[in-house]
Order: sequence, then structure tokens, then C-alpha cells
Amino acid sequence: MIDFRSDTFTRPTPGMLQAMLNAKVGDDVFGEDPSVNKLEAILADYFGKEAALYCPSGTMSNQIAIKVHTLPGDEVVCSDLAHVYIYEGGGIAFNAGAQTRPIIGDRGMITAEQVEAAINPDDVHKARTSLVCLENTSNRGGGCCYDWKEIEKIAAVCRKHSLALHLDGARLFNALVATGQDPKVYGQTFDSISVCLNKGMGCPMGSVLLGSKAFIKEARRIRKKLGGGLRQAGYMAATGIYAMENNIARLADDHAHARQIADTLLTRSFVANMLPVDTNILIFEVNGGWTPVSFVEYLKQHDILVTAISPTQIRLVTHLDITPEMTAKTCSVIAAMS
Ligand SMILES: *Cc1c(COP(=O)(O)O)cnc(C)c1O
Repeated sequence: MIDFRSDTFTRPTPGMLQAMLNAKVGDDVFGEDPSVNKLEAILADYFGKEAALYCPSGTMSNQIAIKVHTLPGDEVVCSDLAHVYIYEGGGIAFNAGAQTRPIIGDRGMITAEQVEAAINPDDVHKARTSLVCLENTSNRGGGCCYDWKEIEKIAAVCRKHSLALHLDGARLFNALVATGQDPKVYGQTFDSISVCLNKGMGCPMGSVLLGSKAFIKEARRIRKKLGGGLRQAGYMAATGIYAMENNIARLADDHAHARQIADTLLTRSFVANMLPVDTNILIFEVNGGWTPVSFVEYLKQHDILVTAISPTQIRLVTHLDITPEMTAKTCSVIAAMS
């Protein structure tokens, strides 16, 4: 099977498994796991942040960040397509007791003007706006990358109104590779950043949350409350260290594979409304007798797995376990469709 359902389907490579076997470990709840400490130091240095916290999942990193940045009854501004809003089980309400102000943006990306307009006045009738969450790349937006100038403008609005700014950077490494930006610029601009290691980076699990020393101290307390304090987590953190050393630059291959498949799809008359392909995610529609369900079923008969993510849209994600040969085979299957 050639599995394009998600970049979360990757399996650890032999090198990564070897890194796990060689890991030095201790009890991370006591702060004594050398591999976790090393991973956190590597990430903090990479983004130029003071401190970092290893978490079991990207969802937990985001939820911890939102909890630390808000008080119950506060309002969180984000896109209507944000993972924190639509894919985290109502966690903003459940964990932070905060409410969400979703903004209809472009492919999950919102503007500084929209953010400023969504900030509530200092009025007893209104929820206190305290946090803005951005997502880069935007998952539901087809892996698109924000225009950096817009992020800078949003950060200026947040500073002006004393709002915290969090980045859901589950696929931030994809954005960094696609744009060639310096990760430290992200560290300077956002109060907190979450990155996933379990997606394009190829780890079995894990996410890292970044912020100031004071922020991470509080985040560590929340992680414990949520049951996310793990003991010899170094066996898993070792996969993250391995990925930071080996799996970032190669994300360009995933982007090239996505481009190749997108170009083939675009030769087919029944493919419509493909979102711009910036990184490793393709989202498109089909017509001319095809439905997402029949398209998915046809590819499955050719050992290719993709997902129907809505009644009209299909999603395909490239990743570490997709080889050039698999990409070529997928392109030839698609090229034969009519
Ligand atoms: C996958 C993802 C997350 C978190 O995912 P986990 O499966 O909890 O690690 C957060 N944000 C975005 C945009 C994602 O795609």
C-alpha cells in the first residue's frame, strides 16, 4: 500500500530505532532524563527560545499553551479552520474554560486587520480577548504557508493590545524548508510555538512546546495535571534528536513529490479547485462522474490510499515513507484515469 492518508503514518527508520536503543534515560518527571533534556535544549536553541517542553502530542502542546495564556472565560482568536478549534475535541473549552472567536480567513490564514477587528473592547459584557493562535503551515488549508509580512503585522497588533501570540507549528518545519526562513525569527515573533515530531519528522510520537522560562515552568505544571509527565521518555525523545539531525532538509523531497502528483492531477479534466500546493498536502475536488468516494475507492484498488475529507474534497499527504518510485507509480495510475 502507498499510504498518502497522512504524514502521521510514518514508521521509524532503522537509524531512528538504533537511536532509541542507544538512548540514555532517566525519570523526566524529576527532570533527570538526559535525552529529553537534550531534545528540549536542541529545540530551544533552534528557535532561539529560552526553554522547551517535550509533550506526548501536538494537541497536548497546543492545549497547554492555550491554558497558560488564558483565564477561564477569556476569548481565543483563531481561524475557523484552525486545528485548535476544529480538531482538538473542544479542548479550548474543556481544558482552559476559554471560548473561541473563529475568523473566516483564506485557507486557514487570517489577517492582522481581521485580528484587530475581533478584539473585544474593555467592557463587562464582553469576554476578555487574551490570545491569538496562528497555524503554519495550515493543515486544512492544504499545507499553505503564511506570508511572513502578515505574521509580523499580526504580532504588532498583539503587542499593541497586550495579547499573547501562539503558533501551532505542527508542520512548521515544512514551512521553514519551503520558505528558507530562519527559525529564530519565529522564536522572536511568537510568545509560544508548538512543533510536531510525529508528522513529517518521522517520529512515532511527540511534540515540543517552546517559550520563555516562566512560560515553560507553568506549562510543565499543566503537563503534569493533564497526565503528560512521562518517566523514561528519553527513548522517545531520542527519535526527536535523530529527526532534528536527519529529517529536516529532506522535507524538500516530500514537497517535490507533492508537486509532481499535483502536476499530474492537473492534467486530468475531472480534477477541480486544487488548493495551491506550498508543501506536502494536496486538497482538491473531482467531478465528471467521479465523487471523492469513488476516487478514493479507485486508487485503493491500485494500492494507493488517500482520504475524502469532506463530501467534496480529497486530501493526499506526502511524507518520509513515500519514495520516488511510489510517487512515480501514483502518477502513472492517475495519468491513466479519465
Ligand atoms: C496534527 C496536528 C496537531 C496535533 O497533532 P497530534 O496528533 O496531537 O500530535 C496540531 N495542529 C495541527 C495543525 C496538526 O496538523
